[in-house]
Amino acid sequence: MTFAATVLTLYPEMFPGPLGVSLAGRALREGTWAMDAVQIRDFAIDRHKTVDDTPAGGGAGMVLRVDVLAKAIDHAREAHPGRPVIAMTPRGKPLTQERVRELAEGPGVILLCGRFEGFDERIFEGRDVEEVSVGDIVLSGGECAALMLLDACIRLLPGVMGAASSGHEESFENGLLEYPHYTRPAEWEGRVIPEVLRSGDHGKIAEWRKRRSEDDTRLRRPDLWERHIGVRVQSASGAQREVQDD
Ligand code: SAH
Repeated sequence: MTFAATVLTLYPEMFPGPLGVSLAGRALREGTWAMDAVQIRDFAIDRHKTVDDTPAGGGAGMVLRVDVLAKAIDHAREAHPGRPVIAMTPRGKPLTQERVRELAEGPGVILLCGRFEGFDERIFEGRDVEEVSVGDIVLSGGECAALMLLDACIRLLPGVMGAASSGHEESFENGLLEYPHYTRPAEWEGRVIPEVLRSGDHGKIAEWRKRRSEDDTRLRRPDLWERHIGVRVQSASGAQREVQDD
């Protein structure tokens, strides 16, 4: 089964964009995944092809019309039943590696990209649409968020990444940040690669990596650490402490 994405957008020319190069691009050409970008404006109801209108209650910007969005979603869902419909919105549930993995194991996605002030809220009441955010930042449109979500899914598809194991050791896969990496030269501007990594002792290396992974998560991401150990971290002040390289 090929992972397939349909992206509903006012800017279909943004796709596949960066996903057309490197590993994702090769996988796209080889048919490991597929995508189509659909112009939301094609579902406009009036002869001016209007997709937005002024916000009820006043204020700046424009809001995407619920009737146009519903037509676009219904069309995509009819063509691809079984794929979840996901709207990109900063009001959504933060995207996690766990959700990415679930999506990558499924048939694909239908992604809805907002613009302007976003969507008429009634679309989320009237249709089964998952709201997803890619971080506590505000983008100008959902397209970059959709590209992010797709990139994260595609790299997990069988055959896309070179080493099959590398996907499982990454940050977040076990609830922790990954340990840091080094490569040649062994010394650079007086800074050396930690001795243990050059020791050839695989047991010690694994131990060092595990400890760095845990230390760095605790100091940099107390939120992740708290979840990992399942207890409340009382204070994030420890996050300021330096980690010693050894
Ligand atoms: N007025 C909205 C922001 C609209 S930004 C608000 O304050 O919540 C325009 C569009 O960009 C959104 O509809 C959404 O599709 C996309 N977007 C912006 N930030 C995003 C984020 N963090 N995650 C996912 N999509 C985002």
